[in-house]
This record gives sequence, structure tokens and C-alpha cells, in this order.
Amino acid sequence: MILRRLIPQLVLSATLLFAQKQKVVKPGFNLFSMEQDVQLGREAAAQIEREMQIVNNPRLTGLIDRIGRKLMAANAADGKNGQFPFTFKVVNDPSINAFALPGGPMFIQTGLIAAADNEGQVAGVMGHEMAHVILRHGTNQASKANLIQLPLAVAGGMVGDNSMLGTLAQLGIGLGANSVLMKFSRNAESDADLLGARLLHAAGYNPVELARFFEKLEAESGKGNALTQFFASHPNPGNRVKNIQADMQFYPRANYQPDAPSADFLAAKAEAKALPAPPKRPQQSGTAPAPQNGGPSPDTAAPRGFRVQRTPLYAMAYPEDWQSQLAQDQVSLTLAAADGLVRGQNGQNDVGHGVLVAINQVRSQNLDQETDALVRGLLQGNPGVRQTGNAQRIRVSGQAALLTPLEGRSGLKRGEKEIIRVLTVMHSRGLFHAVLVAPESRWRIAEGEYDEMIRSIRF
Ligand SMILES: [Zn+2]
Repeated sequence: MILRRLIPQLVLSATLLFAQKQKVVKPGFNLFSMEQDVQLGREAAAQIEREMQIVNNPRLTGLIDRIGRKLMAANAADGKNGQFPFTFKVVNDPSINAFALPGGPMFIQTGLIAAADNEGQVAGVMGHEMAHVILRHGTNQASKANLIQLPLAVAGGMVGDNSMLGTLAQLGIGLGANSVLMKFSRNAESDADLLGARLLHAAGYNPVELARFFEKLEAESGKGNALTQFFASHPNPGNRVKNIQADMQFYPRANYQPDAPSADFLAAKAEAKALPAPPKRPQQSGTAPAPQNGGPSPDTAAPRGFRVQRTPLYAMAYPEDWQSQLAQDQVSLTLAAADGLVRGQNGQNDVGHGVLVAINQVRSQNLDQETDALVRGLLQGNPGVRQTGNAQRIRVSGQAALLTPLEGRSGLKRGEKEIIRVLTVMHSRGLFHAVLVAPESRWRIAEGEYDEMIRSIRF
């Protein structure tokens, strides 16, 4: 009985709560600067423009420029979020898709314009894409996924003339539809819907068009329409129309553009449909480039109880009951004890007992200087970590190497210290580095294993 009386009250208070508070949408944790977002986007856009056919039809470019300018003005007038130098290009591709790169370059495929019912629906997708850029979802996800390796890269590779794209490729981060930069989480999708709807409202478009169009596409892809590529990188967060309508109660009253398509829009849509098919596209730019001059893998013999991980650029032994994961780029390597991977604060995988290996681009061949930059980056990116002594000079694969001692808080053993050693050696491809980590209580055993692993490294 009591239960029955309680339920309506609960529902009522939930409704009140809902009605009182508009969700705050803002960028999350990020190791990149806004300038780095822009640089990364520019490099990636240049690559995409080489691979896709950009359309210069004035009706089509006119349409998306007009929409893009209105949305940018809406973001500037709101002033709560960062401003990015957006660019808008039409791609001759019949699949229904659009995508935006970090820092602002946006691409809208002709198939998407052909599938929309009115200008508001194209604006809906563009507002949603713009929101991903403003909320920095791509680099936020990359930051979370590569928490230890990225600061190393930011310090060691992403400065001067080095390409951001190349540096990320070394960490196994590419531009494909499944890349951490391009494939969004459902939370990111809801946030992009909300900020997108707010931009649409401020630009004079009915925010519901955004959700309506996505639901229409969703229905199409349910019917097996292979042209609806959009959802491969923008998973449906569910309840899109409801969520946007709930947000709209906080917007001031407005008269939106009518649902009926304008003559301008219909003319652009007809052009999009009439374009001749694009030439066959070269291979998708999804995978990181394979190392050049790979040659035969370097060899090393496994000590007793160890096995060897061979890569085109180096080989290294690790305890045989550990797990080994070589990234797409065939360079970055994670070696972890059976229970050595831990869920980090941001949901990413961290190594609590194991070794992370990578090779960074460098500016010089000076081991001390490059090691210094790398360690500085690591300390900046991981505030709980500090250096505990001077680097020790050792030899690895017959070459001068440095072993720098750090310590932090263990993610594996709560309340325990974490011992960290950063091994650095100059390699023909850059600065080879291995970050060796273990909780303090395991260090006595781990140290012996790590000595063995360091001794086994061959280039
Ligand atoms: Zn999205």
C-alpha cells in the first residue's frame, strides 16, 4: 500500500527536477591544446581532400556555407564555448554521411544533401558535427584512450615541423571510421545533439529537424540501406526527439524556418542528385602507415620463462604469463601482467603492472635532451607522478640508454605507491622509449623481470 502511494510522488518529483535544470554541456578532459586540435584537423583535411572528390558547384557550396556561417555566428553570440575556424566542403559521394575533424574542417557528402527534406535537416547534421568540434570530442577520446603515451607524444613529437597526424599514427591513432578520433561514444552523441539543437535554435532552424532527420536515417539503415554510413561513427544514443524537445523548453520562443523546403534548397538537392558518380576512391585513410624499410624483424632469444615480441623495428622479451598487444602501427606495444591492466578514472585502460613501448619523432639526436622533453611531458600529463632521482646511464642493444626513476600512485593497488622507470634510447626512427610500471609491493620481483626485459631488447 505504501508503495502505491509513493510511486506517483516519485514520478512528480522526477518531472519537477527535469523541468528545473537544463543540462550543462561542455568539453571534457583533454591533453591537446585548442591549437593542436586545429593543427591536427588541418593536416587531416589535406589528406582527405587528396582522397575524396571535393565539389565546387556554387549551389551546393552556397547552401552549406550559408548554413555554416549561421551556426558559427550562433556559437560566437553564445560565447560560452571555444570558437574554431570552421570550413565547409561538399564531397561527391552518394553515401549519406558528414564528418568534422578536430579544430573545424567539416565535410558534407552529396548523398546527405540528397536525402534531406529541407535546409533545416542539413543544418541539423552540421550543427551536430559542429558541436563535436566545439566539445572537442575527438581529442578528448584520444586523450582518454592513450593517457600515458599521449603526453610523451605531445612533448616529444608534436612540436616544430613534426606532423601531428604522423605522431598520432605512431600511437596507432588513425582517421578511419573506427578511430578513437572519429567514432563517438553515446554520451558524446547526446551532448552533440543538445549543443547542436541550441546552435540550430540560435541560427533560426527548428532544432527538432536534427532529431527527425537522424530518426529517418536510422529507419533507412534498419531497412539495410548500406548508404547510411553516418551511424558507424555516430551511434544512436536513443530518444533523440524526446531529449531535444526536453531541452527546447529552456529556449526563448522563436519562429523557425518553415518545414517546407525553400526553392534554393530544392535546387541544391537536385544538383546533388544529378552529379556524375565520383571516380573510384583510393584506399580509405583509416590505417596508420606501416613502417618503411621494415626489413626482417630484429631477433632476440627468450630467457627461460619469457617469450619474445617481435616487431619490424625492435624485439623484446616479456614474461610468458603476460599479455602483449601490438598497436596497428606495428610499433606501439603494451605488455601487461595478467592483472596488470586497470580501468582508469576516465574509463580508459591504464597499465598498473606492465610496460608501454613506443617510438616518438624527435628534433635532435641528443639522448639527454630528448629524454628530458619526454619526461617533462609525462610529468605534465600525469599530475600525481614525480621524478625521484637522476637518470641512470645503461646500454641497450649496444647503445647508450637512460633509465629515469619516477613514482606515482598505483592504479592497481589502492593507497600504494607506483614505481616507474622510463627507458630511453635513440633509434633510427626517433626516440625509443619503454615506460615500466609496477606497484611498490611487487617491485622486488618486477625489477628483476624488467632488467631481463631491458637486456633482451634488440633493434
Ligand atoms: Zn555524432
